[in-house]
Amino acid sequence: MTFANSFQPPTRILMGPGPSDVHQRVREALARPTIGHLDPEFIRLMDEIKAGLRRVFDTANEMTLPISGPASAGQEACIVNLLEPGDKAVICINGVFGGRLQDMARRAGAEVVTVEQEWGRAVPPEALEEALAANPDAKMAAFVHAETSTGALSDARALAEVARRHDCLVLADTVTSLAGVPVRVDDWGLDIVYSGTQKCLSCPPGLSPVTFSPAAREAMAARRVPVQSWFLDLSLLTAYWGGEKRSYHHTAPVNALYGLHEALLMIDEEGLDAIWARHRRCHEALVAGLEAMGLSLAVPVAERVPQLNAVTVPEGVDEAEVRRRLLVDHNLEIGAGLGPMAGKIWRIGLMGQSATPRHVRYCLTSLESVLTAMGAPVNRGEAVAAVEALGI
Ligand SMILES: *Cc1c(COP(=O)(O)O)cnc(C)c1O
Repeated sequence: MTFANSFQPPTRILMGPGPSDVHQRVREALARPTIGHLDPEFIRLMDEIKAGLRRVFDTANEMTLPISGPASAGQEACIVNLLEPGDKAVICINGVFGGRLQDMARRAGAEVVTVEQEWGRAVPPEALEEALAANPDAKMAAFVHAETSTGALSDARALAEVARRHDCLVLADTVTSLAGVPVRVDDWGLDIVYSGTQKCLSCPPGLSPVTFSPAAREAMAARRVPVQSWFLDLSLLTAYWGGEKRSYHHTAPVNALYGLHEALLMIDEEGLDAIWARHRRCHEALVAGLEAMGLSLAVPVAERVPQLNAVTVPEGVDEAEVRRRLLVDHNLEIGAGLGPMAGKIWRIGLMGQSATPRHVRYCLTSLESVLTAMGAPVNRGEAVAAVEALGI
């Protein structure tokens, strides 16, 4: 088959669970001329990216780099480099991504003990405490900081503290949390951490920043068998991303890294404190508007991820039709529920460049218009007033 035209994507407003809107500065960076991946200028770019990622992760970890692949690749890199056959791992599961950690750990040959929590709730540190007390030989404890499938935020600092007390390495998924809420890798004692570029970093998908503490590196150096994945083996990757003499490992996605560099520069310019405050303010405005409309959130107030809002679908409303109309008539993407929450919630993202008062208002007015047209019982004309009452 031949085709006559370039692909022109529609102009969407991205307010789902990722990807988020990408700023024009990042898009322009992506379009700059490709250079060689061992060009001295490219190596300078790599060093700046590593430094920028250290600032975002709030860590001094030398081994901090973006894996070439989506966040699932970083997730798998973290698991397969740290776990080998016979190791024991305690894995907290309160949604889809904790379930994937379990699957990956089992495939790596580890013995897995799970800490299961109801979907839509944070992981209780006492439950991890209990599992680690019963499994003193566990090598690693793993959890998802912001569970994107449900919008529940766990207390990463408290979970890490429990794990460290039991002399366990701590693995944290910060894909949705990083640059949306505080993530303090060194202060909280997180050893193995991965994230993604398409959530609050507001880059296109395809890169996965990771960071490893000195203790994690020691554990990797003490492995009995080589990492079964050649591509994700960090002992090979670091010869490309670090050290005096860089050697070929794989061809880095050069242009994607231009985009990440620009996004990190924009984060430095705005400042993380201001970025976290913006996400919180937009979340509060969105919730005020949704509640004024008569809708409610599925996660208890104290456990909500500001940048991922799980909204309960009102009784009798065809949730897929609402999303379809938002997309087709309003160019607005929001997410559906997953697993046990499929059909029960919508997931509204306020991530990175999509966390602005303009996005909040557009989402509220679009949702109100679609729900009204479908005959759903919503209070009309009150959502934006509720947002304005907050001074936003
Ligand atoms: C999105 C997400 C992932 C997976 O990211 P991909 O880039 O789709 O591979 C993993 N964990 C969490 C918490 C996420 O939100």
